Amino acid sequence: MSSVVIGVDLGGTNLRTALLSVEGDILDRRKEATNASDGWKKVVARLVDNIKQQREIAVQRGLHVTAVGVGAPGVIRMDKGVVVKSPNFPDWNNLPLKDELEKALHIPVVIENDANAAALGEQWRGAGRGINSMILLTLGTGVGGGIVLDNKIWQGADGMAGEIGHMTLIPDGRQCGCGNSGCLEMYASARGIVQSYREARGMLEVNQLSDVTSAQIYQAARNGEPIARQVMKDMGSMLGIGIANLINIFNPNMIVIGGGVKDAWDLFIGSTHEEIMKRAFQVPAERTEIVPSLLGDDAGMIGAAAGALHKIQST
Ligand SMILES: [Zn+2]
Repeated sequence: MSSVVIGVDLGGTNLRTALLSVEGDILDRRKEATNASDGWKKVVARLVDNIKQQREIAVQRGLHVTAVGVGAPGVIRMDKGVVVKSPNFPDWNNLPLKDELEKALHIPVVIENDANAAALGEQWRGAGRGINSMILLTLGTGVGGGIVLDNKIWQGADGMAGEIGHMTLIPDGRQCGCGNSGCLEMYASARGIVQSYREARGMLEVNQLSDVTSAQIYQAARNGEPIARQVMKDMGSMLGIGIANLINIFNPNMIVIGGGVKDAWDLFIGSTHEEIMKRAFQVPAERTEIVPSLLGDDAGMIGAAAGALHKIQST
C-alpha cells in the first residue's frame, strides 16, 4: 500500500488541506472558511473533519496516510506542537493542537509555524527546488520568515526561530505588535507600506487617505506618482538591509520572497539589491539569488506535509 501524507494550511481566513504523495504531488485538495471567531473548539473540530475526509479519499484509492502536517500562524512551539498565541485566533492561548489532533485522528501530527511551512514548501517543490540552504520571507500584512539550512528548517531551541520580520532595523522606530520597536515588519509589510505612504503624504490629507490600500500605492507608483515611487524604494531599501544581515549571517544559496507585496516586485527590488551590495560581504552577496516564490497559496500546505514527512522519517 502506497504511503501518502496530508498537509494543512490553517489560515485566519481559509483552511486548506491536501493529500500529497511522498514526492510532493497534490492528489486531492479541499478549502473552506476557517471562521476563527467560532472559537478554538469548533475550529479544531472543523480541522479534524477535513482531515478525516481527506483520509477517506486516501483509503478509497488504496493509500495509507502516514502523517499530518499543519502550518499555523502565530507563535508555535514546534517541539511540543503547541500554539502559544496567534493574532488570527484570539482565544488560542497555549493550545496543545498536536495533542488535540492526534487524540481525534490517531495519526502522528506535526505542527509548524506557517512561514516555516511555506519555506519548506518552496524548498521542496517551488523556487528553492534542489537548493539546500535558503531563506523565505513572506511579505504580507506582516513579515514572516523561514530558514532552511542543509535541507532542514532551523527551529531553534524552542522551535521559535526564523522570526525575520522582527529583526530590529531602527532602534526607536515604529512600535511593533511584538513589543519591540523598529522591526522589519513595520516597514516591509503591506501595512508598513500603507503607513509610510500616509506619513509621506502628510497629515493634511489624512482623511482622504484613511482607506488607501497597498495595491493602490503600487498602482500610483506605476503611474509615476513621486511619493508612491519613493515609498516603494524606501521599502526596498529596508528589505535590503534585513536581507544583507541574513546574507552575512547565513550565507544562503537563495532568498525567496513571497506574500502579497511580491506583486510590487519591480517597484522595490532595485533598491533591495543596491542595499545588499552596499552592506553585505561581496562573495555571499553576489552568490545569493533573490527570487520570487513560485507556489503561492499552496506553499504552506505542501511544506507542512514536507515537515511531517521529515519528522516521521527521522524518528
Ligand atoms: Zn516586531
